Amino acid sequence: MGNDWVEVADRCFVRRYPEWDLSVTVTAGSEASLVVDTRATAAQGVELRAQVAELPVPPVGFVVNTHVHFDHAWGNAAFAGLPVWAHDNVLADWDSYVARFRGSVRDAPDEAATRALLNTPLAPPDRSVTSVALLELGERHVELVHPGRGHTDGDLVVVVPDTDLLCAGDLVEQSGPLWYGVDCWPLEWAQTLELVVGLMSDATVVVPGHGDRVDKDFVLQQRLDASDIAGQIQQLAASGVAVDDALARGTWPIAAERLGDAVRRGYAHLGR
Ligand SMILES: [Zn+2]
Repeated sequence: MGNDWVEVADRCFVRRYPEWDLSVTVTAGSEASLVVDTRATAAQGVELRAQVAELPVPPVGFVVNTHVHFDHAWGNAAFAGLPVWAHDNVLADWDSYVARFRGSVRDAPDEAATRALLNTPLAPPDRSVTSVALLELGERHVELVHPGRGHTDGDLVVVVPDTDLLCAGDLVEQSGPLWYGVDCWPLEWAQTLELVVGLMSDATVVVPGHGDRVDKDFVLQQRLDASDIAGQIQQLAASGVAVDDALARGTWPIAAERLGDAVRRGYAHLGR
């Protein structure tokens, strides 16, 4: 795993962090830079901000959280005073997510990495996107797009049109399979990725939330996986298979033990 900035497109820098394997993107215009995702704690955010300052780019003017999850947004406090953008549902769900996630951490093994999550000061995003927003960085603009629900109900992708870069957040993952958690939307994820692919050209550089940059073919393959998973959940529910039996009955494109929440959520969304 690289631990330095890599310029993956014109004035677009990506750095992969060992903590939670997060990929952070910095995009520079002539006036301001944009940071996409802030890592998992205020201390990690402070380190990130110092590392951004080493880049040959204008000062950070904007921050985006691709979704509500801690590893993407709990470093926000390091960017106090700057506008932090996220989807409407991230602002709406912030407090309940924090309470739920910290509750789950309290039950987890007593490790330094998780203890830090309990204590770190938090700063919720303060600029809200419903479907699309445009940020002007100076001779370059970026688009924030909510393509629909998938990994969460508040996923944003960040598009830099002039250099054909797209930050996908956790709608796309390279270092592991798609992550279906307790707040996923398994029946809608494939359609959401269809819209994401519609924002891309054959040459688009895609930065996933976790892992190395990928291309359109990779995203199309993950869309097929998401579509396969949604189709099987629908079919199992329609054939009367009980939710507790469904995981064992499917032939899933990714390991079944990772799909418990996908099946439970899918059944719930079908009213089963
Ligand atoms: Zn996530």
